[in-house]
Parts: sequence; structure tokens; C-alpha cells
Amino acid sequence: MNLYSVLEKGFPKDKSACAIETQDGLYYSWKDIERGTAMMANLLKNLKLPKGSRVAVQVEKSPEALFLYLATIRAGYIYLPLNTAYQAAEIQYFLENAQPALVVCTSKNFSWVSKVAFKSGTKHVFTLDEDRKGSLLDRASVQSDKFKTVDMKDNDLAAILYTSGTTGRSKGAMLSHNNLASNAKVLQKFWGWKKGDVLLHALPIFHVHGLFVAAHGALINGSKMIWLPRLDTAQLIHYMPQSTVLMGVPTFYVRLLADNGFNKSVTRNMRLFVSGSAPLLTETFNSFKERIGQPILERYGMSETVMLVSNPYQGERVGGSVGLPLPGVKVRVVDDNNRPCDVNEIGNVQVKGPNVFQGYWQMPEKTAEEFTKDGWFKTGDVGRWGGAANGGEAPKNYLCIVGRSKDLIISGGYNVYPKEIESFIDDMEGVFESAVIGIPHPDFGEAVMAVVVPKEGAKLDSQAMIATLKTQIANFKIPKRLEVVADLPRNAMGKVQKNILRQQFSS
Ligand code: ATP
Ligand code: MG
Repeated sequence: MNLYSVLEKGFPKDKSACAIETQDGLYYSWKDIERGTAMMANLLKNLKLPKGSRVAVQVEKSPEALFLYLATIRAGYIYLPLNTAYQAAEIQYFLENAQPALVVCTSKNFSWVSKVAFKSGTKHVFTLDEDRKGSLLDRASVQSDKFKTVDMKDNDLAAILYTSGTTGRSKGAMLSHNNLASNAKVLQKFWGWKKGDVLLHALPIFHVHGLFVAAHGALINGSKMIWLPRLDTAQLIHYMPQSTVLMGVPTFYVRLLADNGFNKSVTRNMRLFVSGSAPLLTETFNSFKERIGQPILERYGMSETVMLVSNPYQGERVGGSVGLPLPGVKVRVVDDNNRPCDVNEIGNVQVKGPNVFQGYWQMPEKTAEEFTKDGWFKTGDVGRWGGAANGGEAPKNYLCIVGRSKDLIISGGYNVYPKEIESFIDDMEGVFESAVIGIPHPDFGEAVMAVVVPKEGAKLDSQAMIATLKTQIANFKIPKRLEVVADLPRNAMGKVQKNILRQQFSS
């Protein structure tokens, strides 16, 4: 079974129909996908790369970049996308770590990337630019446009996806053809993909969300994608009336809501808004529902497991909860001895299922550490079934993510969950967002600290905020220090980097 063949089964009968429409007015048909990926797959095959070779790619988003991904899996090689924000030192780490046989980069970066690549043993470096130029396409253009997709075993690797590096150095999550195919099939059904759907695609394609959730979703359903190079609110609003599905990180929804032009008339054909990759603030969930009249569907996933939990398409979508385990995926919340927690009791989130990755690339010890003896993967996230969500109670089979275990604060022997305190702070007048962290404290081991971003033009009084918190939560949870800052440090995926805040405020 090859993942491409599974996706291809969903392509529409009419291969001349539009599969991808770009902002520049280009139209790619399903036939173009088949032929383009066949030509690139032939190029890869003719390079005679050894079995299991990695193809590392750091290019701007373009339909051809998607073709390169599909061609790599068609040819049976392992796709390894790299964040476009990564600079020389980071690229050097990834290339030395992954030892790709082929590297594809932009012409702009060719001189330094090729140097780093050849040094780390890569044999071939091609270029691919946003405007359909570069040596990859030159070389592919003379290849045959017919290619027999290579048959693979279920557990053969299709991709290595480096995690976002939010909690430390990125790890390469090895995902098999079946990990990705099974998840794509489950999501197609669970999110009610149907004929006539059009996906508005504005996410990057070097990450699980844009590549495996969004693009796979449209491909396996034979649905057209409107392909935007990046998040641009005006463009989203422009294309939304022609679209039915949008997938975004929470920032998408915050920005859309900040635009007065975003209203029910713009979203008249939209049937699904999905959010993930980071927690969606309940304020965003509620304002969206009020303005647009439909709730955002929040789901939870990670590079190592693709999607594992989602609010239902049909059924109640609960703000502040990530929803139910997907069909075929088992999720449990356990204490530090791996005993299941009760409803409303906070514990470690663990997962089992066909979606769970094959291990971290070249990190057998780390891989072993992150699985329990009986084969559950430890997500590193902390959560609970049911409990308080969005001003009420989440049903007891709904998962609420409380944070990452690495961000848990232990102050004077008490566990403090940052999200609880953040939600009280976020509810205060004039607060845009907040991050609660633990900083070293001589008596308590760690002390609670809050870093708060005000809404535009708002003035915040730290002492008054601490006084308000004292009337709301237990004393051991009260921040000993509350700093107001202009913004929170975020990584290339837009996730808050608490490790940087901890460093900054620990000295
Ligand atoms: P690293 O593992 O390198 O520290 P990372 O965990 O941020 O980085 P990803 O695999 O991109 O890398 O992100 C997965 C994580 O994103 C999850 O473990 C979880 O913490 C967070 N996440 C994803 N979706 C949600 C969500 N809906 N709500 C809360 N957190 C989410
Ligand atoms: Mg992670």
C-alpha cells in the first residue's frame, strides 16, 4: 500500500477538473497532479537513490512543492520538509541529523544550503522557487509523465517530520504510509468531507497541519484547494465565499475576527472551520460563534501521532475542549504510575492507534522513553476528561488539554497548571493573552509567574490584577510576579515558547 495510491483513489473521475487554484490565477487539474508527480518521481527514480533515502526540502509554498512531496512518496522515498524560517545553523543540524540523499532548496539559498548539504554527505541539491523555476523542474520536465507508484509496506516510512521545537530541540518523527493513510481516511469521514467541498489552504506545508491534515483532506476527497502562500486576512476573506472548509491555527481566527469585513455574508458557503496546533482561546471560540453563527471545530494532534482527538462535526463542539478520540484511536489520561485518572482529574495524556509514529529518527533511547511498557505513546501533554470548559462543564468523554507536562509548575510541593491561571487572567479586562510559567524560588522550588500582553491601548496594573486573582484562586497559585509585555515569544509555528520566557525571567 502506498499512501499516494490511497489519496489517488479519492481523485474525481473528471481529471480535467480544477484541483488547485492559486492566488496568481493559475489552475492545476487532477491530471496535472498525476503527470507532474509522475515526472518528478521518474527524476527521483533515475537518480538511483538508495532505498529509504530522505528527500529534504526547504522551499516556499507552491503547488510544485506539494507535487514534490507526492512524487517522493510515489517513488517510495522519505519526505522531510523543513520550516522555511530555519536559518543556516538550524539547517546544518537537520541535514547532518537526517543525512538526506537529495536536498531541494530555493535558488536564493542555494549557495549556503548546498555547501552545508554536500558537507553532510548529500549527493544532489536541486532548486525550486515559488514561480515555477529551478533546476528540479528543469530536470523533471524531460522525464516521462507516466509512473507506476511503488508498492510499499504499511510500516515503511513516508515522511520524517521534525517537531516544532517548542519544548527543546526538534525531533524527527518517523511516519509510515499507514500512519498517514489511516488518519486521512478517518478525518475524511469524521469531518464530513463531501462532494463539492473547496478547501481554503493558507497554512504552511512543512508541518503536520498544512500537509497531512489540510492537503491530505482535500486530496483524498477529490476536493479543490484554493492555495494561498501564507496567512493574509484580506485574501482569506476574498476567497472565502468560494470555499467550504478552512483549517487554521488560532491566529487565523483571531485575525479574521479583528477584521470588520469578516461576517456571515463572507462565510455563507463555509461549512467547517477547524483550529489546532495550539490552544484556541475560549474568547475566540465564543466571539466567532456569535459573529459567524457556527462554532470553530477544535482538534488536537501532534507530529508524532497526526490527529488523535477532535470535536465532532455532528454533535456538540465544546469551547475549551479538544473533543473525542478519533475512531480507531485510543486515548487515556493517567497518573505518574500509568493508572487511569478519574473524570475531572488531571493527568498525562497517552495514545495508541494506527496513527502513532514509528519512533524518533536516530533516537532509539528517546523513543523507548516516550512509550510505556504496554505500548502507549506519552504525548507530553497534560489533560483531563470533562471538567470546567467555557464557563460550564465539558461532557465526561471530552478531553481538555491543560498544558504540557514540561510547563507544569511545582510550587511548594503543589502542582500548578498554568492554563488554569491563564484563563483567569485572560478573562480580566484589557488582557489580550497571557503565559504563566514557573521560575526558580529559594523556598518553594518554583514560584508562579505571569507574563501578560494587554489589548491594544489598554493599561494594566499588575498589583490590582494579583489582588483580583487572590479573590478567585488558592494562594499557592497566585503569581508572585506579574509582568506586562508587548508580546509573547513564539516559534516559527506560532507557538508560545515558555522555555524562552523561563530563561528570560529566571535570571
Ligand atoms: P516539540 O515537541 O519539539 O517541543 P511541539 O510539541 O510544539 O514541539 P508539534 O508536534 O508541532 O510540536 O505540536 C504538537 C503539540 O501542539 C501538542 O503536543 C500540543 O501540546 C499542541 N497542540 C496541538 N493542538 C492543540 C490544541 N488544540 N490545544 C492545545 N494544544 C495543542
Ligand atoms: Mg511535542
